[in-house]
Amino acid sequence: MSTKYVFVTGGVVSSLGKGIFASSLGLLLKSRGIKISMMKLDPYLNVDPGTMSPYQHGEVFVTADGAETDLDLGHYERWIDQNLTKECSITSGKVYMSVMDKERRGDYLGACIQVIPHVTDEIKNKIREAAKAAKADVLICEIGGTVGDIESLPFLEAIREMRLEEGMDSTFFVHNTLVPYLRAADETKTKPTQHSVKELQELGIQPDAIVLRSEVPLSESQIAKISLFCNVPKYGVFTALDEKVVYDLPLHLHEQGLDDYVAKRLNLVTNEANLSSWKTWVNSFKDREGAIEIALVGKYVELKDAYLSVKSALVHAGASLGKNIHISWIKSSLLTQENVDSYLGKAQGILVPGGFGERGSEGKKEAIRYARERKIPFLGICFGMQLALIEYAQHVIGWKEADSAEFDPHCEKPVIDLLRGQYDGIELGGTMRLGNYSCLLKEGSLARKLYGKEIVEERHRHRYEFNSRFRKEFEDAGMIFSGINPDSQLVEICELENHPFFLASQFHPEFTSRPLKPNPLFLGFVEAANAISLKNKVA
Ligand code: GLN
Repeated sequence: MSTKYVFVTGGVVSSLGKGIFASSLGLLLKSRGIKISMMKLDPYLNVDPGTMSPYQHGEVFVTADGAETDLDLGHYERWIDQNLTKECSITSGKVYMSVMDKERRGDYLGACIQVIPHVTDEIKNKIREAAKAAKADVLICEIGGTVGDIESLPFLEAIREMRLEEGMDSTFFVHNTLVPYLRAADETKTKPTQHSVKELQELGIQPDAIVLRSEVPLSESQIAKISLFCNVPKYGVFTALDEKVVYDLPLHLHEQGLDDYVAKRLNLVTNEANLSSWKTWVNSFKDREGAIEIALVGKYVELKDAYLSVKSALVHAGASLGKNIHISWIKSSLLTQENVDSYLGKAQGILVPGGFGERGSEGKKEAIRYARERKIPFLGICFGMQLALIEYAQHVIGWKEADSAEFDPHCEKPVIDLLRGQYDGIELGGTMRLGNYSCLLKEGSLARKLYGKEIVEERHRHRYEFNSRFRKEFEDAGMIFSGINPDSQLVEICELENHPFFLASQFHPEFTSRPLKPNPLFLGFVEAANAISLKNKVA
């Protein structure tokens, strides 16, 4: 069967939760036995978000095959419990780059290159490539941005053309909008939705379904009004209320008949939706009692999206223990040796996530030292592992001058050094050590116990590494290198004994955590934190 396409657009405002809607639809279709895949099309001109500041973009999500992608890919993977690939995330930048490459090669045989058809053809190629790579029955494609943005016009034109080429029963358009509630008038307003749909219609796209995000339940008459004015049957109008528990959304959309409608419209032969394991999990999620206090010490803590997968992985691990996770977001640049106790005194676990650059790194090292000395469970990720090793060199081995070449390329003891194959002046985009690499776990180590197997694969995104020439001195001083890449001998995990939990990884375990399958390192960390009661902490 050739792939069918569901195109998800958004209107009225951004941050509507389109990504969560698309993920919910993915989950529902998958639960009916349909082979799905998901894709995000971002209108910005960066080739990928890897070069963008977290302030601009939030987290960069890394796929197993090493693509630096939009954080929505993280939602998709977690909700549909499926790995996605580099084909699943494209940007205008990537599209234009391919067009320009072809133009320089002379592939267009002298034609004048235009947005229509050359750019739109390239977009359609990339959508079809993603469908082919995934061998999916249904590819759900979310168009980033809001209808009406200049940047997203070529994408909308491309999906309009796809309906023409693929046919009615192979394409489905679903538009997400906001129905604002005006407190003073005590009314919800459908006009912005009408305008937004009109804008889509002007571009030649008639939505098959509309999803209305709303704070309050909508009346039958409002649904009827939207149906009439937007030219969508009433059974194609869905509401997505602000959910107390976001994981309820797929269940509520299912109750409204969303997956039935999509399956019928696309002529899909499917089973009944089987949502039992999701339902059981959501119920247990709602029954969580008590909270585990985790301090997350990072550079961009005012922007929680910068650590979205880390936060999700903590929540998944907590939920599997029946506990909430309370995260204290601590700005690393504020931490000093003098005040660290006042910031971290309540933490049952301390997490130092990935990061770049020297700013705030001293504060992170203070947090790591505090965790190490006070025997508070500690999980370090990527930059967090690198700083844990520098801290250990400085305060346990006694190498005051130990540092990372990232901060001082000429430092005397580059405990953390540039990876082989990387050199100063390398192009920034897409050149780090990215994606899955395997890691051999040492017999008898904590890491081995947690994973319960000898070899694991996890995802990476870094330019620097532990400098193996110092390995012996570290081991003599008690550091255990419990995870090693078998091909390059690069250190992937380090841990300490005689500590409730002190473990750090060069890879990012947060990217593989799923609601029903928490990542083993997060689970171990959260379990250890749960076991720490505040009075047991060493003073
Ligand atoms: N800045 C460090 C490096 O490039 C760590 C990167 C990270 O934490 N993702 O190696």
